Amino acid sequence: MSLRVYNSLTRQKETFVPLHEGRVHMYVCGPTVYMDAHLGHGKTYVNFDTIVRYLRYLGYRVLYVQNITDVGHMLDTGEDRMLKGAAREQRQPMEVAETYTRYYFRDMDRLHVLRPDISPRASGHIPEMIELVKRLIERGYAYEVNGSVYFDVNAWQEYGKLSGRRVEDLQAGARVEVLEEKRHPADFALWKRAEPEHIMRWPSPWGEGFPGWHLECSVMSTKYLGQPFDIHGGGVENKFPHHESEVAQAEAATGEPFARYWLHNGMLMIRGEEMHKSLGNFITLQGAFGQWDPLAIRFFILLSHYRGPLDLTEEALDAAGKGLSRLTTAARAVRRRLRGALEGEASAAVTQLVEATRARFEESMDDDFNTAGGIAALFDATREVNAMLAGDAALTRGSLEALDTLYRRLLGDVLGVLPENLEEEDTEGLAARLIDMLIDMRAELRRNRQYTEADAIRDRLAALGVQLMDGPEGTTWSLS
Ligand code: ZN
Repeated sequence: MSLRVYNSLTRQKETFVPLHEGRVHMYVCGPTVYMDAHLGHGKTYVNFDTIVRYLRYLGYRVLYVQNITDVGHMLDTGEDRMLKGAAREQRQPMEVAETYTRYYFRDMDRLHVLRPDISPRASGHIPEMIELVKRLIERGYAYEVNGSVYFDVNAWQEYGKLSGRRVEDLQAGARVEVLEEKRHPADFALWKRAEPEHIMRWPSPWGEGFPGWHLECSVMSTKYLGQPFDIHGGGVENKFPHHESEVAQAEAATGEPFARYWLHNGMLMIRGEEMHKSLGNFITLQGAFGQWDPLAIRFFILLSHYRGPLDLTEEALDAAGKGLSRLTTAARAVRRRLRGALEGEASAAVTQLVEATRARFEESMDDDFNTAGGIAALFDATREVNAMLAGDAALTRGSLEALDTLYRRLLGDVLGVLPENLEEEDTEGLAARLIDMLIDMRAELRRNRQYTEADAIRDRLAALGVQLMDGPEGTTWSLS
């Protein structure tokens, strides 16, 4: 079997063949760091993280670059996102960028999204961006007006090839004064002059200004991955104009193809609606982590195909959490049995189960990263594993090791949903059960009028920071 991926550029599934044997160079558009990451970010970066993990599982050496946008990304209103964040928090834009970059990685760590190999900041690549703009002007694909530089979509015949749009049909939603500067409404800014109030600004041949958002990705991807490179990923909502413009800039400047495979992931919906602050259904990852285990969220995302939209409901997420716990409980039981297991080779039944499961998992994943199919194979295997664990026949060390490796590789390395402390179980849960046990013992002592001993339990728990509250419904506790 070989890996096949759906390439948005050719609009078909293709056998994946990297440019250099054994190596994959991959770029994914990163976050604009002016606010907390939300569940939509969670879906995108879990989707692409799982793709990177599977490519590594297949033996590829993957170089994964994902940018941090800390300049140039405007809202539809023409407002600069970074400046909006700075105004909101009364801080410098770079403080805002640093804060939300750290928060972004903190949230991604909890989702088990592996850190990219390179996380280039846009603000650290201004000279390279200016060079690209100069080259585009020299080659006749860009023009300067009043200190801003625009890409000329009519000069680049292939504009629209990624998104399938035609230049004739394009009308930009830009503000009127910007529209007046452009030769065509769909022309987009490579470099923008900085108005007096604009804090983030750099000197350029066209005066003080700042780069356009699309430009960043063309520059930072090719700087670290070369041109062409293998895979470019991103959200389908950014296919146009962002990705389309990335292609145009990079290809017009060099005459070389840009990314060979374009992978687009579908959006996250909340109960059938797009997530929007205005709809009141906006959920940050921090907010979601307060309600659900981050790995259950990751597992929920992987239960559907990365290209499709994903509709989030509380019930579906709760169900995903239960499903994941069925898998991790079996994986934990296998690993615990390994302690003190009887020596011996893997049984024929276990070997066959492991091989068949691995083959089915790989077959699914080879089909454009069908994680749902891979998870179904693991559920089926787990039913058999549970029967084996409950059966009379003792499992040999060889059998347990084979099963442990299966879970470790597929559920852990590829899907990324195995907790790090699998064997310890959750110590928080254990602590809660121990406190409940002490509360029961105290109640028993009080019933026997052994108040001195009962009070000693209460006082010693208090010394550990656990406060007991006696009420009509019994005793509850809280951490002080
Ligand atoms: Zn991008």
